[in-house]
Amino acid sequence: MTIQLFNTLSNSVEELRPAAGPLRMYACGPTVYDYGHIGNFRTFLQVDVLRRFLKLEGVALRHVMNVTDVDDKIIRNAAAAGVPIHEYTAKYERAFFEDLDALGCERPEIIARATENIPEMIALIERLAAQDLAYRAEDGSWYFRIAGFPDYGKLSKKDFSGIADGARVDVDEYDKDSARDFALWKAAKPGEHFWDGPLGPGRPGWHIECSTMAMKYLGESFDLHAGGEDLMFPHHENEIAQSEGATHKTFARHWMHVRFLLVEGRKMSKSEGNFFTLRDLLLKGYKASSIRFLLISVPYRHPLNFTTDGLIESANAIERLRTFARRIAAGNLPAGVNPELASAAQRAEEGFRAALADDLNTSEARAAIFEMVRAGNAAADAGALCAGNVPQMQAVLDRFDSVFAVVRDNDEETTRWALRWAEEEGRLQDVSPELLGRRSLSDEQIDALIAEREQARRSRNFARADQIRNELSGNGILLEDSKDGVRWKRK
Ligand code: AMP
Ligand code: ZN
Repeated sequence: MTIQLFNTLSNSVEELRPAAGPLRMYACGPTVYDYGHIGNFRTFLQVDVLRRFLKLEGVALRHVMNVTDVDDKIIRNAAAAGVPIHEYTAKYERAFFEDLDALGCERPEIIARATENIPEMIALIERLAAQDLAYRAEDGSWYFRIAGFPDYGKLSKKDFSGIADGARVDVDEYDKDSARDFALWKAAKPGEHFWDGPLGPGRPGWHIECSTMAMKYLGESFDLHAGGEDLMFPHHENEIAQSEGATHKTFARHWMHVRFLLVEGRKMSKSEGNFFTLRDLLLKGYKASSIRFLLISVPYRHPLNFTTDGLIESANAIERLRTFARRIAAGNLPAGVNPELASAAQRAEEGFRAALADDLNTSEARAAIFEMVRAGNAAADAGALCAGNVPQMQAVLDRFDSVFAVVRDNDEETTRWALRWAEEEGRLQDVSPELLGRRSLSDEQIDALIAEREQARRSRNFARADQIRNELSGNGILLEDSKDGVRWKRK
């Protein structure tokens, strides 16, 4: 099957395939200055969907992700905390990978830290300087001369003709419409962390990191480069200028940009203050699988408005899938094969793969599987689900889940991990009462409260008995009165 993917560079949907050998892809990774928010993870999850789907289709991968562990924000925050930048970033790098695991994202083949690739960055800047594409300013910083790169703007489709040669910008992130020469190497300010070498004491700009590490691990030309839509300009435009300016070869052939996760129509972002981290949501009682499913169910080229209703809908949809998986596994079915169900399963398989091959249409892929679940449930209700249908339907579900990764269930484990983290970080005030109860009431304490409630009922103290029931319920414990006594379970 050919996989079609929109290419920002050509502005059209094109076949995605490796030029030779494994598919070489680079996806911009996190800046590890704080916990990521779920908007960041929407982008990582959509790249995970692509990665998993390519593997399902038998495409070998060499996927590189950078970790930006030095930048303006990191230097500022580490200085404020009075710790070296490494110490500051280690905590957030660990947190990022924990979050990635909790959300079921596969690890890229190669993870590259900026601070471990500084000599290569310096070499690339020197290569640009040798072609008069990099120059040193009075303060010792080095800049890229965009007037020397006529293709500047080809990715973001901005017209920069008539730009003022020499106008400069030295912050990593800027979204001005007028292009400026951007910093490749920033001269060290007093007290700042720096690297010494032929460029003078300083540190790399953000853009040069990605050009350097992409070409180091994937070669000067590679197949696909991905990131969130905000990276298209200036970050990716600058990556192209630096790389193609140095090599005179096409940098990445295919560019994928994931549209934003929004909150009430605005980009979820740290600066807007309208963000949730994964941990915030887990502590409120939402499940990791619901968050994953919500963030991937809307295709990557559409913005997605985040709502808690959306999380509840995702949880319900996953429950339908899991219930169906349990139902067909339960056995006790008539022998033989129901041919209609066999073709429904076949259609679901073809449907979900064709949808993903069509520019990663996750929403149609999902619909194709739910069609099989509907047909399977209807057949089971009518006693027409046969033992011979089960292996095929399980295989279809498994293949679907090799991309979506939500039917498999590690929600309980993930929630417990988030609770342990909240306890360690002194964040228990952020935990919902139900989860807090789960954490704080041991089985013995629950049994003791139930015994006390029985005693209260026997002595006709119904007020106390109700109070205990409410207390347990508030702590996430459900009571079931049965003729053999009281049973309880955690909600
Ligand atoms: P950062 O750690 O800020 O460099 O961002 C990591 C990734 O998240 C980048 O690919 C960004 O484009 C992406 N990103 C940031 N905010 C959002 C958002 N609201 N929705 C989707 N992706 C985002
Ligand atoms: Zn990047």
